[in-house]
Parts: sequence; structure tokens; C-alpha cells
Amino acid sequence: MAADRVDLRSLIRTIPDYPKPGIQFRDITTLIADPVGLRAAVDGLVLPFLTVEIDYVAGIEARGFILGGAVAHELNRGFVPIRKKGKLPWRTIGQEYSLEYGVDTIEIHADAIHDGARVLLVDDLIATGGTADAAIELIRRSGGEIVAAAFVIDLPELGGASRIAAKDVAVHTLVSFEGH
Ligand code: AMP
Repeated sequence: MAADRVDLRSLIRTIPDYPKPGIQFRDITTLIADPVGLRAAVDGLVLPFLTVEIDYVAGIEARGFILGGAVAHELNRGFVPIRKKGKLPWRTIGQEYSLEYGVDTIEIHADAIHDGARVLLVDDLIATGGTADAAIELIRRSGGEIVAAAFVIDLPELGGASRIAAKDVAVHTLVSFEGH
């Protein structure tokens, strides 16, 4: 079945008021447990980049590892993990970013990306774009050039895709949902 004929939206479970009141949590575990859904999602992320020069796929912990690993495999490229603070075993570069309350930090291995390497960033969902923004900064500070950022889900009302586009990064998303 062609990837564009699979209804990815219907395979994503929406959980109201999780993890707190007012949030509609878009749960991809139902999508990735479905064999057609997983393949269609990965194919959809990969398709625009089949003929683009890319050295690495970088994925953001934790759902970006599942999708990004599959995308890297499909593109015959290596995978670079971007993790929560304190999880990577070697020397790291860190980037703080703002959450609704407080700050968090993500890290990349300092030697993961060579100067001038072209990187595709992958995560499951873009909301405010704070996480992806920090990941882009990490890749750029590592000497990498960010080719594009690809997500299964966009929440356009939260403005993340526009925020990333304003950093001169092409944004590719497969489905969008209204609201938060
Ligand atoms: P943001 O930094 O606001 O773009 O948030 C993106 C990150 O938070 C991604 O790694 C998502 O997995 C997660 N996230 C944010 N909002 C949601 C939501 N409504 N449903 C599921 N995951 C979310």
C-alpha cells in the first residue's frame, strides 16, 4: 500500500488531559505498533530526502530514536542520538531550553558530528518548537549543517514549525492536529 494512502491520523491515539489538564496527548505508540502505520510513517519521513545529500540523521530522545533510527537505516546513513542531560557516556555539548515551567537541557556527544556534516533532525511531534530549536543549536554548535527537520505530527497552533522555519531550517511534517 502506498504510504500516502495510509490514514496516519486515525492510527494516532489522542489522550485528553495527559500529562495535565488541557493537553491533548498525541500518542504514537498505537501508530508504531501497527506494521502498515510504522512503515507508512517512516516512508513519509524519508521520501523528501531520498535524493538529498545527508551525512547523519539525528533523533531526539525518546520517540525520535524509534523513528530517526528507522529513517537513518532507510537512508543508509548513521544515527546520532540527542539525549536528556546526563545520559550520554562520552564528552558532551549541552543546550538549555525553556519549558512551560523552568528549563531543561539536551546533549549531544561532542565528537558525534564532524565539521560541515549535513544533518537531518527527526522527532515524533513539534509543538512549541523549543526542543527542536535546542537540537538545531546543538547540531550547529557541533559544526554540522542542518538540512531539514522532519516530524510525524505538527501542532500548528503552537507555532513550532514557523519558529524552526525562521531559523532557515526546512520543516517536513506528515499530519497536523488542531489545539494543544
Ligand atoms: P516542543 O518542544 O514544545 O515542540 O515539544 C516537543 C516535544 O514534546 C516532542 O518531543 C514531543 O514528543 C513532546 N510533546 C509536546 N506536546 C505533545 C503532545 N501534545 N502530545 C505528545 N507529545 C508532545
